[in-house]
Amino acid sequence: MTDLRTYVASLVGALVLSGCVPAESPAKNDADGAMDVRLIRSATVLVTYTNAARSMKILVDPILADEGAEPPIDYSNDLKNPRIKLPIEKSELMKGVSAVLLTHYHSDHFDMEAERTLPKDILIFCQPYDEAHLREKGFTNLKVVRDVVHWEGLTVSRFRASHHQGATGAPPFGESSSYFLQTRNDDVFFTGDAILDDSLKSSLRATQPKRIVANTGECQFTKENPLLRPGITMTLTAAELKEAARLLPSSKIVAVHMDAINHCPLTKDALRRYVDEEQLNDRILVPNEGESAPHP
Ligand SMILES: [Zn+2]
Repeated sequence: MTDLRTYVASLVGALVLSGCVPAESPAKNDADGAMDVRLIRSATVLVTYTNAARSMKILVDPILADEGAEPPIDYSNDLKNPRIKLPIEKSELMKGVSAVLLTHYHSDHFDMEAERTLPKDILIFCQPYDEAHLREKGFTNLKVVRDVVHWEGLTVSRFRASHHQGATGAPPFGESSSYFLQTRNDDVFFTGDAILDDSLKSSLRATQPKRIVANTGECQFTKENPLLRPGITMTLTAAELKEAARLLPSSKIVAVHMDAINHCPLTKDALRRYVDEEQLNDRILVPNEGESAPHP
């Protein structure tokens, strides 16, 4: 039988450790353009802000499949994706979503379930590299972000990113991008799948974001393959998060892209231990699925 006191204590402990607040907490002063940034699962994040008294919701990198309903990413292990459930009902998540931001078209950022179930006329912000593929899948309402796009009180700026060391942006791996979202008085930077190379450093230095949603998990292949040498990371490592925190002393880092995809070995628990050891608790936040990152 579950010991309720232990359960409650661990729940409170997890919230304190993550440095994040449950989604029920109201976003701070929406009227000034403040963005609520809520981790859904892996790199799927819901950004909510108010524009002209209307609530705008941008769903970043939707993976919508039920737990274990889609195949594993190749060259790693046989664990099916996604490895954890959505923290809320899919219908609840999709209610009132105004647009999707697709950082790049890989199956851990736009899964088969998203391809099947999203309305074909939903507005999608995407990088130029992915436009043709999205149109092939029947999506008709694309806002291709070459550099900057303005929409509904939001500015979306795109920056080139390197998915791994030596990335060229050529097929089959393709391009990866970071995005900077700005409202009147708030901003948030999405690294997308990127390593901390000169490109990402210069994008971060140029934008000086209040919050950085950082894709981590230390994703990598473990088996020999024609794409990338095993052990080369494709998302930020714990050490790179620490380095980013040092480079951007005024930014809060919100670490995501963990525990849900089979080729990402760094877990939230392990990252929390690292953040604790490195005394970076006030700089690097590790939200649970369903939690909003506190406003700085
Ligand atoms: Zn990814």
